Amino acid sequence: MRIVLVGPPGAGKGTQATRLAEQLRVPHISTGDLFRANISQQTELGKLAKSYMDAGNLVPDEVTIAMAKERMEQPDAEGGFLLDGFPRNVSQAEALDELLTTESMKLDAVLDLEAPEEEVVKRIAGRRICRNDSAHVFHETYKKPAKDGVCDVCGGELYQRDDDSEDTVRKRLEVYHTQTEPIIDYYKAQGLVVTISAMGPVDEVTQRALEALK
Ligand code: ADP
Ligand code: ADP
Ligand code: ADP
Repeated sequence: MRIVLVGPPGAGKGTQATRLAEQLRVPHISTGDLFRANISQQTELGKLAKSYMDAGNLVPDEVTIAMAKERMEQPDAEGGFLLDGFPRNVSQAEALDELLTTESMKLDAVLDLEAPEEEVVKRIAGRRICRNDSAHVFHETYKKPAKDGVCDVCGGELYQRDDDSEDTVRKRLEVYHTQTEPIIDYYKAQGLVVTISAMGPVDEVTQRALEALK
């Protein structure tokens, strides 16, 4: 299956993507995680991306599309993938369509996670992620690690993302509404969008998503 996940920052895309990818046996491809890995390895791409991310803006399309394309061309993505955080504007969606068409592939669905703004703000404010792997995601109150500040999965140090500060979150929400939401209409025109509520316990949202993707 080839699936795109969309939804505001903090809706639970990463959390659900990890679980759905496991169930559907496809790799979870998160452009945010790829950028953060580049930042921690201090690559040139990481240095460039960080300035945009810290301001709550999108990283320029050219580098983002190239990075996503390279990842989608890895052998493990041949049979399908779950894209989390890409595409994030209409030109990225067009670039993805072009790439898929060249390979005679198409998307199966675009899963739209809906959550009210006051909930995503709470989810982001309490989010803590692991230094070793930003796919290891916790929450101060909703998903407390067994030991404060320590990742349950790998023992790594938990920290708050620089871009999860209150000011940056406001900017990211605005960017979501102006630049990312339009891709929902773009994909509706292709008949691909399934919308589900991201509210309630993680397991319930996963079940809802699997049901919607059937
Ligand atoms: P996104 O990738 O959409 O930004 P995350 O998956 O990182 O979202 O989730 C944001 C925060 O909310 C994390 O701290 C996560 O643990 C928490 N979270 C995710 N799903 C739920 C849920 N259904 N209920 C409560 N908290 C959640
Ligand atoms: P969240 O799930 O909380 O929205 P992500 O980890 O998906 O956060 O993204 C964090 C930041 O990484 C974004 O605010 C943006 O700066 C950058 N980013 C991630 N994916 C893209 C993309 N497809 N295009 C441009 N920038 C991106
Ligand atoms: P499972 O063995 O089903 O994966 P977990 O230990 O991941 O169980 O989850 C235990 C509880 O915490 C569940 O109620 C689940 O919905 C919730 N939960 C799991 N992951 C997150 C997360 N990232 N953020 C918030 N709540 C979560």
